Amino acid sequence: MQLKDQVALVTGGGSGLGRAIVERFVQEGARVAIFDRSQERIDEVRKVLGDKVIGVAGDVREMADNKRAVSECVKAFGQLDTFIGNAGVWDYSKSMVTTEEDALSAAFDEMFAINVKGYVLGAKAALPELYKTKGHMIFTASNAAFYPGGGGVLYTATKHAVVGMIKQMAHEFAPHVRVNGVAPGGIGGSNLAGLNSLSQQGAKFSDLPLDDLMKQMLPLERAFHAPEYAGAYVFFANRRDNAPGTGGVLNFDGGIGMRGFASP
Ligand code: NAD
Repeated sequence: MQLKDQVALVTGGGSGLGRAIVERFVQEGARVAIFDRSQERIDEVRKVLGDKVIGVAGDVREMADNKRAVSECVKAFGQLDTFIGNAGVWDYSKSMVTTEEDALSAAFDEMFAINVKGYVLGAKAALPELYKTKGHMIFTASNAAFYPGGGGVLYTATKHAVVGMIKQMAHEFAPHVRVNGVAPGGIGGSNLAGLNSLSQQGAKFSDLPLDDLMKQMLPLERAFHAPEYAGAYVFFANRRDNAPGTGGVLNFDGGIGMRGFASP
């Protein structure tokens, strides 16, 4: 029960890594608000976790939705200790070399709006509550924030932006609010459809299912699934164990950069 009596808000908490974080936070004693654009996914998680969890359907690109998520969370649970910016998207088919200019420009706007602006607006909405609790922000980056590889230029650029944002926020919000990030590698079981479309550009990927590909690529020689990544968020949210930490981003990726992402 490392997070007993804590309250967290998780964007993209309806699926994948976000859902695993929600489940783990509840196991650790927290109450959690899920902010996700899919009401159906929110309902599925709530069916399993019951009244430890509330859901707010909305879009992270909209300031009003972010504010509503924070206010619903505080209305239900009385406070906010940890804001987790996690909702993110990727589209491997938008190669810089082959995508037509207008489509590339639209894809850039869409990806930055969700992966970067969504984090900034969520943080802005959460900040007043986190000042009150001397709380935390934790953002999901990616191995793409550190190494070139499967994500393509647009996705990689958004995740580099996330790391810069974390460091600047940590600087500006100290000593009141701590800000950290987790940089997962490929998450086993994820839908990484389109990964192979980048192979035309020289990044060679095989047709293996992701879990088998990960086994070949990672120095730790197996795929890691969403629940195995969730503990890093518990660590950052834990006031005792993460007392000194702000501005840090944890490479949590099976050692992907130690071998080179594109060299299975
Ligand atoms: P996912 O697609 O399984 O879940 C993302 C969730 O975010 C979905 O429930 C979706 O409804 C929600 N969402 C998407 N856009 C939204 C919006 N505009 N407003 C509100 N909610 C929105 O994704 P995932 O694999 O769990 O990825 C989560 C995070 O982890 C992302 O930031 C991603 O970049 C990062 N990441 C993923 C991998 C991977 O291999 N899957 C690897 C490294 C980093």
